[in-house]
Amino acid sequence: MEMDTPIKLLSRVGKTTAGRLKNLGLEQASDLIFYFPFRYDDFSLQKKISDLLPDEAVTIKVRVQLIATRRSFRKRKILTEALVSDDSGSLKVIWFNQPFLTKMIKPGDEIYLSGKIDESRIQMVSPDFEKVKAETVHTARLVPIYHLTSGITQKQLRFLLHQTLPLMKSAAEFLPKEIIDKYEFPSLARALVNIHFPRDAASEEDARARLSFDELFLIQLAIQLARKKIREKKSPSIAFLEKQTKDFVAGLPFELTPAQKKCSWEIIKDLQKENPMNRLLEGDVGSGKTVAVALAMLNAALNGYKTVMMAPTEILAEQHYQTLQKLFSKQSFKIILFTSSKREINGEKLSKKQLLDKLGEGEFDIVVGTQSVIQENVKIKDLGLVVVDEQHRFGVNQRKALVEKNNEEIIPHFLSMTATPIPRSLVLTLYGDLDLSIINQMPAGRKKIITKVVYEQNRLEAYEFIRRQIADGRQVFVICPLIDPSDKLGVKSVTQEYERLKNEIFPELNLGIMHGRLKSKEKEEVMMKFKEKEYDILVSTSVIEVGIDVPNSTIMMIEGSDRFGLAQLHQFRGRVGRGEFQSYCYLFSENGSPLTQKRLKYLETCSDGFSLAEKDLELRGSGEVYGTRQSGLPDLKIASLTDVETIKIAQLEAKSLVEKNGITPELASALKKLNLSLHFE
Ligand code: ADP
Ligand code: MG
Repeated sequence: MEMDTPIKLLSRVGKTTAGRLKNLGLEQASDLIFYFPFRYDDFSLQKKISDLLPDEAVTIKVRVQLIATRRSFRKRKILTEALVSDDSGSLKVIWFNQPFLTKMIKPGDEIYLSGKIDESRIQMVSPDFEKVKAETVHTARLVPIYHLTSGITQKQLRFLLHQTLPLMKSAAEFLPKEIIDKYEFPSLARALVNIHFPRDAASEEDARARLSFDELFLIQLAIQLARKKIREKKSPSIAFLEKQTKDFVAGLPFELTPAQKKCSWEIIKDLQKENPMNRLLEGDVGSGKTVAVALAMLNAALNGYKTVMMAPTEILAEQHYQTLQKLFSKQSFKIILFTSSKREINGEKLSKKQLLDKLGEGEFDIVVGTQSVIQENVKIKDLGLVVVDEQHRFGVNQRKALVEKNNEEIIPHFLSMTATPIPRSLVLTLYGDLDLSIINQMPAGRKKIITKVVYEQNRLEAYEFIRRQIADGRQVFVICPLIDPSDKLGVKSVTQEYERLKNEIFPELNLGIMHGRLKSKEKEEVMMKFKEKEYDILVSTSVIEVGIDVPNSTIMMIEGSDRFGLAQLHQFRGRVGRGEFQSYCYLFSENGSPLTQKRLKYLETCSDGFSLAEKDLELRGSGEVYGTRQSGLPDLKIASLTDVETIKIAQLEAKSLVEKNGITPELASALKKLNLSLHFE
C-alpha cells in the first residue's frame, strides 16, 4: 500500500462502500490516514463482571456460553441475546437488529465486550465486541470515533484505518528536526498512529499537539513565503487628490459614516506608499464597504491607474458593476464587466478580443469580474489596485496568482473585503502582518431587522405573516440546514422542505429552490429569477450568497437554526433589511434545550456581527463558528482557531524558517499538497 493507493483496493471495500467513503472525501489511503477522529470512547478500563458499576464505560474479557437470535414479541425487532461469563460471574448481553452476530460469535469464544451495564446491573445492551487478541481495535482501549456518513459504521472505518497502520508507521517526516526537538513533538509516524490508535490519553494529546502544529505551521509557511515574495516588490505610489475626493463625497446621496471615512482614509494613505498595500476591510453586512473602497478606486483612476475588482460569483460581480456605474456616473470612467458569460463596457457589449485588447492597452478605469479576470492570460496595463470581495483567505490565492503572473518589480496594491465578523485578535494571530480596517458602525437610519425565535406552535402564524407580506409584494428566503451528513450538499432536506411548502402551505405562490448540487450557472439563474421577482419564496441551503442584494425581500426564515453558528445566522439575516421595508428574521429550531434557546435568543437583541462572533467563539469555541464558505478563515481539520498558543508558535517558526531560507524539499512537497487543497476549496 502507498499513500496514493485508491481506497477501493483496500480489503472489504466494494463499489458501494467506496462511493460512500467518497462522501467523506476519502478516496485514497492518505485521505484515510489524515481523517482524524473527533473523540474517543475510553474503554481502556478493564474489570471483572462482579465489579461492574452501572453507567461506567468499561471492557470485560469473557467467554460466550450461549448466543441466539430471535424476533421480539411485539415490536418486530431482531434480538440477539448472549450469556457470557468470567471467573467472577456471568452476565446477559443484548444486541438489536444485528442477526449476523450469531455467525460471528460462537459459544466458547473468548471475546472483549466494551460498553456499559444498565442500572439493574443484570445486562449489557449493544456493547462493542471483538475476539480477544494482543492488539485490539474496537474494544479494551481508547477507541477512536469518526464523523460518519450513512452506510458506513465506526467499525468499518476503524477496520480500514487499521489496514493503513503500516503506511502510517512509514510516513515520511517533513518537519525540521530542530522544531521537533524544541517542542518535543512525536515523529509524524508516531503522531499518526497515536491519533487513531492511542495507547493512552497522553500519547493522544502529544499526537494531537503535533498534528495541530503541522496544520497551522504549513498554512503560516505558505503565507510567509507569499509575503516574502511580495515584500521584494514595489507598487505605484498613487497620489491623494483631495479636491476631487471631497467633491465626490459631497455628491453622494448620503453622508459617509465616520467609520467609512476612517477606513477610506487608511486605504488611500496606503496607496500613496511605494510598498504594496495588504489590507483587509472588515465590515458587517450593509455597513457600506463598497463606497469606502470606491474612494480608493476614484483616486487610482484619476491618477491613471486601473483597478481590478473580483467577486466570488457572476451575480455579485454584476451587482458591483452596476453600483460602481451609478457611483461614478459623473466621472465618465470606463467600467468593464468581465464574467464567463458577460463582457461589456459601460453597458456596451464587447467581444472577447475587444475586451482583452482593452485590458492589455489600459483603455479602461475599472474592471469588475469573477475569477475569470485572473485566469485570463492577459497583462493589465498600469494595474494599481486589486480589490477582492468576499473570498476565501482574504484573497491569498488571488494575490499570489497575480504576483506570479505579472512577474515584475511593480505589483498592484491589494485590498480584501469581508463581511465575516472575525475578531481582530483572531485575524492578527492568524494573518500576522495583514493590515486591518474595520467599519464598525452602520449608516444612520437603518431599520433594525426584527428577529424572533419562533416556537413550533406558532409556525402557522408565521406562514400567515409570510402570506401577507407576499401579498404586499415582498419576497421571502427560507434556509434549511444539512440534516444528513452524507448529504453534504443538503439536497435532501431542502428538496423536502421545498416540496412541502410548495404543495401544502403555499400552493398559490411561486417558489424557487437552490442547493449545492446545482451548477454555479444554475445557481446564478435561480438567484437572478429571485431578484427579478419570478419567485416569491426562495428555499435554499446555506449556499445563498453572502452579499447578494435583493432589497425587496423582507423575511428570512431559518429552519434548524440551532445547526448554524450565530455569526452565520447573522450573515443570513443580512440578506434582508436591505431596502426601505421593515424586515424580519424568524428562527426555527427543533432543539428545545435551554442552552440552544438562550444562544438563539441572543440574536433577538444583538445585531452586531462582531459581538455575535465573539459570543460564538465563547460558546462553541471552534472554527466551525463561521461555517466554511467564504469565511476567509482556513478550514482546519484538527487544529483549533482558538488555540492561540499553537497559532503563535506556528507563526514564529514559519517566519524564522522563511527568513533563513530553510525550506527543505520535504517541506516544499508538504506545502505543495496544501496548495492543491487551498486551490480547490
Ligand atoms: P456591504 O458593506 O454589505 O458591502 P454595501 O456597500 O453594499 O454594504 O452598502 C449597502 C447599502 O448601503 C448600499 O445600498 C449603499 O448605497 C448604502 N450606504 C452605504 N453607505 C451609506 C451611508 N453612509 N449612508 C446611507 N447609506 C449608505
Ligand atoms: Mg458587499
